[in-house]
Amino acid sequence: MPMNRPIWTDEPWKPLPELTGVVKADVCVVGLGGSGLTAVEEASMLGATVVGVDAGEVGGRAAGANGGFLLGGLADFFHRLVTRIGLSNAATIYRCTLEEIHRLALEFPNQVRTTGSLRIAATPEEVTDCHAHLAALQSAGFDALRYAGAEGEGLYLPMDAVYQPRRCVQEHAAHLTERGIALHEDSPVVSLSPGRVVTRRGEVHCRTIVAAVDGGLEDLFPELRSRVRTARLQMLATAPAREVYFPRPVYYRHGHEYWQQLRSGEIALGGFRDVGGEGEWTSSGEPGGAVQQLLEDFLRTHLRVTAPITHRWAASVAYTADRLPVLEEVRERIIATGAYSGTGNITGRLCGRAAARIACQVRSGWAELLRQARTFPHSPNLN
Ligand SMILES: Cc1cc2nc3c(=O)[nH]c(=O)nc-3n(C[C@H](O)[C@H](O)[C@H](O)COP(=O)(O)OP(=O)(O)OC[C@H]3O[C@@H](n4cnc5c(N)ncnc54)[C@H](O)[C@@H]3O)c2cc1C
Repeated sequence: MPMNRPIWTDEPWKPLPELTGVVKADVCVVGLGGSGLTAVEEASMLGATVVGVDAGEVGGRAAGANGGFLLGGLADFFHRLVTRIGLSNAATIYRCTLEEIHRLALEFPNQVRTTGSLRIAATPEEVTDCHAHLAALQSAGFDALRYAGAEGEGLYLPMDAVYQPRRCVQEHAAHLTERGIALHEDSPVVSLSPGRVVTRRGEVHCRTIVAAVDGGLEDLFPELRSRVRTARLQMLATAPAREVYFPRPVYYRHGHEYWQQLRSGEIALGGFRDVGGEGEWTSSGEPGGAVQQLLEDFLRTHLRVTAPITHRWAASVAYTADRLPVLEEVRERIIATGAYSGTGNITGRLCGRAAARIACQVRSGWAELLRQARTFPHSPNLN
């Protein structure tokens, strides 16, 4: 079995050229995952000339190696977000993320399935928490239902979806290059300074830089180290598992474990970062430690899947203490976005778009919303 190969990578991909020589652009986007590509698209739509660079492949890190869940909200469940950032901020954020799921489904209809999702409780106490979660969503006017079924007890969120993350990102990059936008793979940035991005064999001279990097954000910007910490998330996948049927993706034990069954029957399962201990706070994107065994045990005993394991992988994501993403001008004319605390497929797109708007000096409602959330009176007490 190839190690560190996500189940999503089985399609061939024609590499994009490395950046060589000196090029000029209004905006240079560093990082071509889902967030960076959305930034490239938005800056270009706003009339800027854009160059995008990535150290490896488009979607070669978390953006193409994740669980494929498209969930409403941020990393914290809605009811907790309400207590942290207030009902109005939490509800507006939630609405924006649902709209973004819808937008993604319209833009990539072959990659997105609007299945809804299940949050399933692991303990009786968590069932109580699911009730609070449900009550908060319903009282804010969002669709959510109590659920009890084969997967367990919890709630059903009908607006959520799943997608094929790697193909979606690749399709996105292909659309952009077809429109004549220069995207470069295999072009690691070795230095970033206002107006200048230096890669191994090239340079971009630009007005503004957008850095859209999730895992390792604090390595690119050491000034963020006190607020941002990178961890590894691990997954495995199986051959088609005809012995089980999961029509909807499942979020279990407060979202620590998560799995979905693909249309062709394979199970993709992730989790146990918290149980894996201090060793999971690493910038290594290689699977390992106790987590792979924990996933395998859970697959066999809890999910009762007998199909062979075909893929194991890991990738890096970054966390913040308040679980609100980073979206800010970290250095003069350098806008950084990342640290989505484990759920960046949708938030990353919203932040990437907002970063591009800031770079182009255009108002961003999403950026304002995050600013308000961060300064909400309860925020300083976050842990
Ligand atoms: C196993 C796993 C499961 C997950 N499951 C889910 C899920 O189900 N739902 C969900 O919403 N989120 C999930 N996430 C989180 C989600 O995948 C990420 O938050 C999101 O994909 C981040 O995308 P991004 O484009 O911001 O960053 P990344 O995917 O990290 O992309 C950043 C890019 O920047 C490039 N880069 C970094 N440094 C440099 C440099 N110096 N020079 C040039 N380029 C550089 C990298 O090569 C990379 O391609 C999961 C993550 C993992 C790892």
